[in-house]
Amino acid sequence: MFDFFKKATKAQKKVYVTIAVCLVAVCLLIELIGMIPGIPFNGWSTILEACGLKQRYLIPEGELEVHFIDVGNADCILVRQGEHNMLIDSGDIGAYQDIVDYLDRHGIKKFDLVIATHPHADHIGEMADIIKAFPIDRFVMSYMPEGKEPTTNVYLSMLEALDERNVPIDEAVPGATYTLGTAQLQVLAPLSEHSDANAMSVVTRLTFGDRAFLFTGDAEEEVEREILTRGFEVKADVLKAGHHGSKTSSSEPFLRKIAPTYAVITCGEGNSYQHPHEEVLERLEDIGATYYRADLCGDIVFTVKDDGSLTVETQKGD
Ligand SMILES: [Zn+2]
Repeated sequence: MFDFFKKATKAQKKVYVTIAVCLVAVCLLIELIGMIPGIPFNGWSTILEACGLKQRYLIPEGELEVHFIDVGNADCILVRQGEHNMLIDSGDIGAYQDIVDYLDRHGIKKFDLVIATHPHADHIGEMADIIKAFPIDRFVMSYMPEGKEPTTNVYLSMLEALDERNVPIDEAVPGATYTLGTAQLQVLAPLSEHSDANAMSVVTRLTFGDRAFLFTGDAEEEVEREILTRGFEVKADVLKAGHHGSKTSSSEPFLRKIAPTYAVITCGEGNSYQHPHEEVLERLEDIGATYYRADLCGDIVFTVKDDGSLTVETQKGD
């Protein structure tokens, strides 16, 4: 193999050795630069990713991430488990580019599961375009009772996009379970027909090892009571406070049963509803929950490591 080297002249050998030394030095330099914290360059990993030789942004197989994407006074929640992805709601009208940029930054190319909690624009505002842009294995939604079906553009275009893309749709059935990698999701509501769309919110509880998250959409006190009466397990480490921190949600008996360590309030800066309401913040403080407000924190991301530890990171600090 090294015949060419033996046969080379002295001058050629000098060139070969210089090239070899330079290559080793460049390799070492790439690795060393990759070890510098705080720069978006991860040595050879980054170079292989750029060449398309390595799948980008995968999170470790044994971990779970829950991203409350800051979309103002609206909901958009990304859940990742290993290579599996779920999206709950799609922000308000106009949030598409922000959402897609966020998903792109995390290398999200498809969804195992997408949930539309209820047909209000601050939850399905960009759903039609999300459905067109991403392959979706399964879509879960609740249907409004007969005579109460929405006629809004966002709702009708969502149904149209689902039909166009042949996405399998499940009507949310209480007790139904879904898997997201090694995480499990259980549907808790809607438990009965309501004429109010908020009360038809798909409420779900996600469990991963010993950790649990409760996603409530815009469900209010009446639905919270129904869930407790039905006897579903609601205990959760992290609660998405219902209806953007409105006082009509997060009732005291419900909070006591959930006993969350953390709560997330998806409220937008200077929103006209004055979410979150002071009463809710007081109720959360009373049960000892630490709460994160999207208007103050920006994106809020929870990570469960394979040892079961739970950490939270916010875009703008606490
Ligand atoms: Zn809402």
